[in-house]
Amino acid sequence: MEINHHLYDKLTEITSKENVLVNEELRNHTYTKLGGDADFYVTPENYKEVQDIVKLANRENTAFTLLGNGSNLIVKDGGIRGIVLNLQKLNEIKTDENVIVAQSGARIIDVSRHALERRLTGLEFACGIPGSVGGALYMNAGAYGGEIKDVLTSAVVVTKEGELLTVSADELDLAYRKSNIPDNSYIVLEAEFSLKNGKFDEIKAIMDDLTYRRESKQPLEYPSCGSVFKRPPGYFAGKLIQDSHLQGKQIGGAQVSRKHAGFIVNIDHATASEYIDLIHFVQNAVKDKFGVALEREVRIIGEDK
Ligand SMILES: Cc1cc2nc3c(=O)[nH]c(=O)nc-3n(C[C@H](O)[C@H](O)[C@H](O)COP(=O)(O)OP(=O)(O)OC[C@H]3O[C@@H](n4cnc5c(N)ncnc54)[C@H](O)[C@@H]3O)c2cc1C
Repeated sequence: MEINHHLYDKLTEITSKENVLVNEELRNHTYTKLGGDADFYVTPENYKEVQDIVKLANRENTAFTLLGNGSNLIVKDGGIRGIVLNLQKLNEIKTDENVIVAQSGARIIDVSRHALERRLTGLEFACGIPGSVGGALYMNAGAYGGEIKDVLTSAVVVTKEGELLTVSADELDLAYRKSNIPDNSYIVLEAEFSLKNGKFDEIKAIMDDLTYRRESKQPLEYPSCGSVFKRPPGYFAGKLIQDSHLQGKQIGGAQVSRKHAGFIVNIDHATASEYIDLIHFVQNAVKDKFGVALEREVRIIGEDK
């Protein structure tokens, strides 16, 4: 891509040059190891920089996209135009009694471990979810009966106008794997979690059990985006896929996992288009066999090549 020098200059007035990468390969920032380049990949270091980047994007009429830990996204092969914002440098986690405040770029796994060290219970479910705090709020991430909704009390966000706002958890309409964060175009900067006092050994035992269950069932040895589909009411996506005899089905380098039918793994340098074609193939096959429409949990963003 031809570099937009004007935008580059403006971005580097807001944050330092090391934080503004040009034509950055997004496959290096996604769990599926898929995706073309971002025109600008920007990693701001404080809230003011985030606000200024939003205001700049508004003024310049430039698209911007938020990338968390890239564990629930497929970026298409043509990449993403404009600014891709990643908040990995905003990753502080603080505790005051039973309240944890975590910045959005912290990994939710680390917040869960932080809670364990302080003998706080409620975030054990998150010990194996590879997302950032921001991505976890956006998706209302959950596992093994727990979800963000159970423990979140409030969040600090940047609005689409670039203003800071504190919102209560209720205002985010958290529901099964969704929130109203995309509808409001909020950028999550930090989250406040209210936990309960517990016992170290008991919290650790739950986390060890969940880790064992995850490692024995999920194909963690290959790049993937986790469960591709949401749980359809009354069914399990993995079981429907298994019973459609799709495990091992491959398009290019993408394969329906033999270990866990709900996962599609990148086993051999897949392209995003192969991965997406396989998602459609699975949706069609399950619809034909069982009449059930599988809804994607994973988000697909960016442009075709
Ligand atoms: C092996 C594996 C296992 C998984 N297991 C689970 C599981 O058990 N339960 C579960 O719920 N999920 C699971 N996932 C999916 C994923 O980890 C979660 O959905 C996670 O919450 C996504 O967070 P992320 O930071 O990676 O977000 P990304 O994938 O980077 O982004 C997801 C969406 O969130 C938005 N977003 C990211 N950060 C912010 C922010 N700061 N403000 C506003 N919007 C933001 C992005 O724009 C994007 O639309 C798994 C994934 C993998 C690869």
